[in-house]
Order: sequence, then C-alpha cells, then structure tokens
Amino acid sequence: MSQSVVTSVQPGTLYVVATPIGNLDDISARALRILREVALIAAEDTRHSVRLLQHFGIETPLAACHEHNEREQGGRFLARLQAGEDVALISDAGTPLISDPGYHLVRQVRAAGYPVVPVPGACALIAALSAAGLPSDRFIFEGFLPAKAAGRRARLEQVREEPRTLIFYEAPHRILECLEDMRSVFGEERPALLARELTKTFETLKGLPLAELCAWVAADSNQQRGECVVLVAGWQAPEGEEAVNADALRVLDLLLAEMPLKRAAALAAEITGVRKNLLYQVALQRQG
Ligand code: SAM
Repeated sequence: MSQSVVTSVQPGTLYVVATPIGNLDDISARALRILREVALIAAEDTRHSVRLLQHFGIETPLAACHEHNEREQGGRFLARLQAGEDVALISDAGTPLISDPGYHLVRQVRAAGYPVVPVPGACALIAALSAAGLPSDRFIFEGFLPAKAAGRRARLEQVREEPRTLIFYEAPHRILECLEDMRSVFGEERPALLARELTKTFETLKGLPLAELCAWVAADSNQQRGECVVLVAGWQAPEGEEAVNADALRVLDLLLAEMPLKRAAALAAEITGVRKNLLYQVALQRQG
C-alpha cells in the first residue's frame, strides 16, 4: 500500500470532506488537515459546522452551500478555485452528497475542469451495513422514502423483488409507519435491521424479521427517536424460481392471467423450453 500525506493535487482543488455522524473522534487526521489548510469551507449549515470547527480549533472561513443556493453560489466557489485557492465542501454530518447537498457544486466544478478530491470518512449507510450481518457484497441505497404513505408504498413495491440488500434513511417520527409498510410489502418474515443513533450514546442495532421489528419498535417509544437507517434483506426467489429465468417467468405470468394453472404451465413450458413440472411448481407458488 502506498501512503502519502500530500494535501493538494494542484492548486484550485475542491475537497469533498466527510465529517462525523455523531462521534467527533471519527473525523480523520486528513480531513482535519484539509479543513485547516483550505481557503474556504462550503458548508450546508454554517452555524452547525462552526461548532465542529471550533471543537477542533479550526478557523477557516465558512460559506453557505445548501440545497437552496447551491446552483447559484457555484460561481462564487469556482472563482476561488480559479484564483488558485483550495475549497472544502462539508455537510452537517457524514459524507456530502449522500442525501445531502453538494451534487450541483461537484458537477459544476468538474465541468469547469477543476479537480474534485474525496476525503472519505463516516457515512451512516456504510456504517450500518458494515455491522448489520446482512449480505454486503451487493446492496442498493434508496435514500429517504416519500413522506406520504401512498408514495412510500409505491416505492417499496418497486423494490419488492430486489435481490440486493436494501438500505433506507428514515426520519424518527415516521420510523414505525415506514417499518409497518415494509412489513406489508416485503412480508412478515423478511430479515431487517434498524440502526439508530450510530456512533452516539444510545447507539442501537436491532436485527429481526420485519413483523418482530415492528412490534419491538412499537413497544418502545425510545426506538422512535434519533437518527435511523433501515436495512432489509434482498428478495429471495421461492425454491425453484431461481432456475426459471425472467423471460420464462414473464411468459408464465401472462398465461396465468388468461388460463388455468396447469394449462398455463404446460404452454409456458412449450414456449420457453423450461421443464413443465418446474413451471407448474413456480406457478403454484406465484398464485399461492
Ligand atoms: N450525509 C449523511 C451520511 O453520510 O450518512 C446523511 C445525511 S441525511 C440528511 C441524514 C440521515 O442519515 C438521517 O435522517 C439518518 O437516516 C441517517 N443518519 C445520519 N446520521 C446517523 C446516525 N448517527 N445514526 C443513524 N442514522 C444516521
């Protein structure tokens, strides 16, 4: 592994710097050095970030860069880069751009030809996944679900048969209704985990099948407080289904809508070349 302490690739660099999600000790030595050395820090909420900087004795000036001004203020930060100064981008917590502002600025800076350098660190979804004990080789991050029930359920329906581990951010006042919707869409038995207040005093990671997780959260209002990440195991095809490819399943589903199960399985077998008995079993599972 090659190691380096070089700060600037070239003058006029935008550093995207991760800050802690709770425990201030999680900030990296490199992040602190860069926050100290850059000319300006673009922060989601300057009043919030000033406390972090004060804690570490950093006096670098701050400028607001939040979702409402990010597009218009891009020019201001570009001018500093153009003058050969380095700028750091931080959000209130964790990694900028991850359910946080910064995307438009990063795009603008890259489009203008200035280097953008990540300074990695805390990120709630990665912290939760790393300790969840759910498959971590492939996962999808869905961010925040829609706040209203109809939109939330529709989004959950879209990922019901997603085989990769699912990761969501959720606000504490919606955590129970969100888990209940997950239970009804994904099923009572689907393994899930609630990661709450990560790296903080009341850090809790609770892994249970969705029905039990709902009951556990409903029974303890403390579990409906603080910041939460919800992880849900990916969909697993009922036995037999994995041997049937998506095209064959589509044909089977179309035929099942039109004719009795046995006939649909036989016809689907003829069309797709998949064994009739296997399709028959899958058809039973799909209708049952
Ligand atoms: N940029 C951040 C990151 O890297 O994770 C996420 C910012 S997003 C506005 C805030 C959401 O992240 C919270 O509502 C919660 O879902 C999740 N989150 C942030 N800090 C957390 C923590 N300490 N424990 C659990 N979830 C957290």
